[in-house]
Amino acid sequence: ETIGENLERAAARYADREALVDVATGRRWTYTELDTAANEVALGMLATGIAKGDRVGIWAPNCAEWVLIQYATAKIGAILVNVNPAYRAHELGYVVRQSGMRLLISAVAYRASDYRAMLAEIGFEQTVFIGEPGWDELVAAGRRADPALLRERTTILTFDDPINIQYTSGTTGFPKGATLSHHNILNNGVFVAEGLRYTEEDRVCLPVPLYHCFGMVMGNLAATSHGACVVLPAPGFDPEATLAAVQAERCTSLYGVPTMFIAELGHPRFAEFDLSSLRTGIMAGAPCPVEVMKRVVGEMHMRDVAICYGMTETSPVSTMTRHDDGLAQRTETVGRAMPHLEVKIVDPGTGQVLRRGQPGELCTRGYSVMLGYWNDPDKTAEAVDPARWMHTGDLATMDADGYFSIVGRIKDMVIRGGENIYPREIEEFLYTHPDIVDAQVIGVPDAKYGEELMAWVVMRPGSPPLTSEQLRQFCTDRLAHYKIPRYVHVVDGFPVTVTGKVRKVEMREQAVELLA
Ligand code: ATP
Ligand code: MG
Repeated sequence: ETIGENLERAAARYADREALVDVATGRRWTYTELDTAANEVALGMLATGIAKGDRVGIWAPNCAEWVLIQYATAKIGAILVNVNPAYRAHELGYVVRQSGMRLLISAVAYRASDYRAMLAEIGFEQTVFIGEPGWDELVAAGRRADPALLRERTTILTFDDPINIQYTSGTTGFPKGATLSHHNILNNGVFVAEGLRYTEEDRVCLPVPLYHCFGMVMGNLAATSHGACVVLPAPGFDPEATLAAVQAERCTSLYGVPTMFIAELGHPRFAEFDLSSLRTGIMAGAPCPVEVMKRVVGEMHMRDVAICYGMTETSPVSTMTRHDDGLAQRTETVGRAMPHLEVKIVDPGTGQVLRRGQPGELCTRGYSVMLGYWNDPDKTAEAVDPARWMHTGDLATMDADGYFSIVGRIKDMVIRGGENIYPREIEEFLYTHPDIVDAQVIGVPDAKYGEELMAWVVMRPGSPPLTSEQLRQFCTDRLAHYKIPRYVHVVDGFPVTVTGKVRKVEMREQAVELLA
């Protein structure tokens, strides 16, 4: 089944049920309306000469049109290129050129003049702005077109076609364009929805970006395949708008990377919102602190909340916790392998499968592995081996029952005086400090030990800044001496990607300057 066929089936089955709510503009679509609107955009694209395999970019913050464009491109077999709304001109130019983009659809409501200036700078003119005449003309052309054209299209589409180029978050370096098929992402969305037990009663609040697989696959495709409703609280992440949308729309499910949940739980007006409609949701994308998970289950009523682990290159989810797992598994692990996927832990040097409990590189295989990095066979060969195993670059362990725990990224591991240190373990420990609300640990160069640890901490409002001596006292006897951070840096927040992920690369650069 292709993504277009899946939406058509949902439209036939859930017809008048609500499919999409754009809270910022107050617009709503039923399933029938969503499918019709997606058809209009699809026909409009055909009318402007877009054909199967053409790359169509979307460069916009979360909005309803994003969803329409996602389905419209899938219906005609165009390849949707997700462009990060925070990109600057040189990154935009790279993605436009690297993907060979035919058309870029953008939004003006947000940083409008900035967007235009960057487009002018890179000299790309095939751009349509949502809310402007170009977009209205595209939709109008779609309304005038013969719907039979779309039915003819479906005969030339297959579920293995590339349908999407998603650039990775760029947490560890320059983003890479993972090329994904209908089969890759639709299956993943369906299995995520089954894991969360979605039905047409569910209403899924998505403060996570649609440009990332978290929003467009685990959000849109999961919800729509099961008749649930997608609720978009705001164009960019705003903790208060998110909490307000959950309350007003009686959402049953809420997604976020850990930093988003931390911001919501820490919001001064948190207690005023009625979140009793929540049942489930997903925390994913970065290490999920146990303390935060416990508060999400307890204070946000998300008793069935899942932790997912995955990456853009694997459509994205590889492992997931389930509602019937024990509380310890659901807060401390990333769950077990998703249905129909294989996951193994290997020695990154030799490729040998390791014993249970030993940390090694997590590798995964199955329907979810990307077709490859767009136009980059060398990078693809580095990541996906000849037997089709994806090498994730993440260190993890698997326990006797098949539950995985993520230890950290291979690149973030700190080697101090010959000891391998996983920052995650120390971060988890720092979260137990009563005055610390968020913590990140990095390695900084050191003449004696090779690397030393530096903790960046965000203090609870009103708490005095922590000194390295106080931190040492807190850690002594509770952490091995070599794991106690030598330096403390008190901050208001961390450098993050638009997906809300902490950019340790940037922290390391700043730390070197701080210590100089
Ligand atoms: P880039 O590849 O460009 O450096 P990125 O890896 O952050 O960026 P994504 O594909 O968005 O890009 O993120 C996947 C990564 O996020 C995983 O490889 C893993 O390191 C991390 N991750 C995802 N889910 C979890 C989780 N539940 N716990 C810990 N880490 C996670
Ligand atoms: Mg990555």
